[in-house]
Amino acid sequence: MSEQTQSPTLVLASSNKGKLNEVRQILADSELSVIPLSETGFTDDIEENGETFMENAYIKAKAVCDALQLPVLADDSGLVVDAMDGAPGVMSARFMGRETPYSEKNAAIIKTLEGVPDEKRSARFVCAMCAVFPDGRRFDVEETMEGRIGYEIKGEHGFGYDPIFFLPERGKTSAEILPEEKNAISHRGKALRKMAALLLKEL
Ligand code: IMP
Repeated sequence: MSEQTQSPTLVLASSNKGKLNEVRQILADSELSVIPLSETGFTDDIEENGETFMENAYIKAKAVCDALQLPVLADDSGLVVDAMDGAPGVMSARFMGRETPYSEKNAAIIKTLEGVPDEKRSARFVCAMCAVFPDGRRFDVEETMEGRIGYEIKGEHGFGYDPIFFLPERGKTSAEILPEEKNAISHRGKALRKMAALLLKEL
């Protein structure tokens, strides 16, 4: 086996510690590994001005790959609410202002959906993942976790919009399930496992 096929390592184009831990936990059983951006010396701000999750994932991966000349993995994710015409979507982190606490963002979404019946409260978390290599190869994967916007803020696990994201088949929000349970069904967990399998096959 060549060195390349033994243990591919990619730079993770994120400075978010929570995301790094989640990615490492999901990849624990995989031969693929990631190193955080913070260990590479890359500090540029990247403008995520894409119109889709995948465009943003590619913008991040490409910028870091061009600068470091190393294989890079980037993801972009967010919440899509059908009754809000897909909002907050790619604006999920910036919705109502980046610094606004999620307790307020979540309360605002529940208020917007006041009077909306169950069947019209459908929503999904989307995760687009893009791996870019210095030789120009690019791999894209996109996955979702389907659910509904709940009627109240519930649960202590997870982050962001998890406390209002109701999983009908479990009767709980994604903030009420354990992190390992969420990783098994989440948009990010599914996308990452698919990407790991794809890269291990292709490299
Ligand atoms: P980014 O992928 O780091 O740009 O994150 C986008 C935003 O989407 C996050 O800041 C959260 O608001 C939201 N988001 C993405 N994934 C999740 C999730 O699993 N739970 C809750 N919120 C999420």
